[in-house]
Amino acid sequence: MFGSVLLAGSRLPLVRRAVSGVPLTRKVVDRFVAGETVQDAVEAVRRLTGAGLAVTIDHLGEETRDAGAAAQTADAYVLMLAALRELELGDRAEVSVKLSAVGQALGADGDKIALDNARRICEAAHDAGAGVTLDMEDHTTVDSTLGILRTLRGDFPGTGVAIQSYLFRSEADCRDLSYEGSRVRLVKGAYAEPASVAHRDKNEVDKAYVRCLRILMAGKGHPMVATHDDRLISITETLADRFGRALGDYEYQMLYGIRTDKQQALAGAGHTMRVYIPYGDDWYGYFMRRLAERPANVAFFLRALGGK
Ligand code: FAD
Repeated sequence: MFGSVLLAGSRLPLVRRAVSGVPLTRKVVDRFVAGETVQDAVEAVRRLTGAGLAVTIDHLGEETRDAGAAAQTADAYVLMLAALRELELGDRAEVSVKLSAVGQALGADGDKIALDNARRICEAAHDAGAGVTLDMEDHTTVDSTLGILRTLRGDFPGTGVAIQSYLFRSEADCRDLSYEGSRVRLVKGAYAEPASVAHRDKNEVDKAYVRCLRILMAGKGHPMVATHDDRLISITETLADRFGRALGDYEYQMLYGIRTDKQQALAGAGHTMRVYIPYGDDWYGYFMRRLAERPANVAFFLRALGGK
């Protein structure tokens, strides 16, 4: 409930100005964001891969309303991927892309612009030996995102996508995406969605996650289990046993700065543990979703504002 209020408020320009304008916000944001520049992101990549973790890098930004800004976001990914290429990390590095940041929200031509920009990112990723996963945003974008995924996979078959368990449609989407070579990142979902399309009760979201997880683990693709939830991680292990999946036939993913001890423990046990690293100056939407997920994060934010 409190989370939905935060998510709704986060879309108001007044709230955005107020939060972004507080000088200490940046310090708090740094807990969840690797920094503003490509160098900051590369530094985080070096640190985390040096500690045995895999990474997926997100250039922050979403809901771009201007074709020039969408192209600039794609340029930023190309630049980042050139830096990754030097590090020679192979499939230990990939990028995560929000299609709304590369043009999806630009009216009638949005899908085509987003596809062209995403294709440019996939080409640069291919040159760097890295993968690409499409993030999933609010429910109105799902059909468009899955359509663009299908087209991209024609040339870049390793392209992955996030599926949100809170949406009623997601079990069917998981079934459609359970084929060989498919890469699906399963998440609970982080947007404020209406009860007509999504479970809103936390328990129901968790149960839906298990149903989707079972479909993916029983299927032929590569499940990417993106959660910080211990119960879901232990259910994943049970399903891996049941369906004969070895280490490396599925992977775990967590967000930068969240449950870092658990990240290390999973990597130490031999799992591929991929950390989602956001960087860039457009951190507002991402930051507000992290606050909305956990009341304790709001307390942390308020304490920092109070100088503690
Ligand atoms: P929760 O039940 O929210 O949390 C379980 C436990 O994890 C909590 O008790 C707490 O200990 C810890 N935890 C969770 N969140 C936080 C936090 N913010 N701060 C501190 N501790 C926390 N959502 C989308 O809608 N689209 C996407 O494309 C997408 N991509 C993602 C990619 C990755 C790699 C990950 C890990 C998440 C992604 N998400 C995405 C966010 C996701 O939908 C959830 O909102 C988020 O992961 C929290 O859910 P949870 O599964 O960790 O479970």
